[in-house]
Amino acid sequence: MSVIAQNLQAVRARIAQAARAVSRDPHEVTLLAVSKTFSAEDVGEAMAAGQTAFGENYLQEALDKMAAVRSMFPHAPISWHFIGPIQSNKTRPIAEHFDWVHSVDREKIAQRLSDQRPDHLPPLNVCVQVNVSQEASKSGAGTEEAAIIARAVAEMPRLRLRGLMAIPEPTDDVMQQRAAFRQLRELYEALHADGLPLDTLSMGMSGDLEAAIAEGATIVRVGTAIFGAREYAKP
Ligand SMILES: *Cc1c(COP(=O)(O)O)cnc(C)c1O
Repeated sequence: MSVIAQNLQAVRARIAQAARAVSRDPHEVTLLAVSKTFSAEDVGEAMAAGQTAFGENYLQEALDKMAAVRSMFPHAPISWHFIGPIQSNKTRPIAEHFDWVHSVDREKIAQRLSDQRPDHLPPLNVCVQVNVSQEASKSGAGTEEAAIIARAVAEMPRLRLRGLMAIPEPTDDVMQQRAAFRQLRELYEALHADGLPLDTLSMGMSGDLEAAIAEGATIVRVGTAIFGAREYAKP
């Protein structure tokens, strides 16, 4: 078995154990393999081990990799999730090539993605990124702004509002990890109670996926624990 296949098996076991620990069905948690900085061949190894959902942060790298993967596996089911910061002049290729976007944190970006989503594709699945650690330097909308964006996305014809995403400050303190994820879940529950059709909480990475699952994550975004340490700086 390849290292990537072994790592995937270990991550799936972590997810299952974390879910069972809080009496959740492990099938409620989707594993998104974050393949940024890794090659199309690495993605292919993960696909051979049954992985079908991949997350990317850097647009040009992602587009090149998607084309290479498609030519290696023309018929394999695969979904691509954009999870990085979005510049407003880069929305068109995102709208044209991805299945999901987790990092919408401005209404203007959402409007452009809806306007630019091609008619022959299903609506683009969208999570609104929320800044749960209140840091000015971090991306993500504040909670009140996120609620406004989510309501706007729900009305946009070529987008499908799915839920919320956050990247809390990394910390080894599990109670702190859980507190940040709980904040996102509470916003999710408030919006849900308000009638928004949400089904996705995108939270948890290699270092904190257990805490995220304990607080209700439905998608965990895992890079390092599957592909290894990222070795080159972002392009
Ligand atoms: C890189 C990245 C991840 C994966 O992080 P790891 O710690 O390598 O698992 C998850 N989410 C986002 C938004 C990322 O940019």
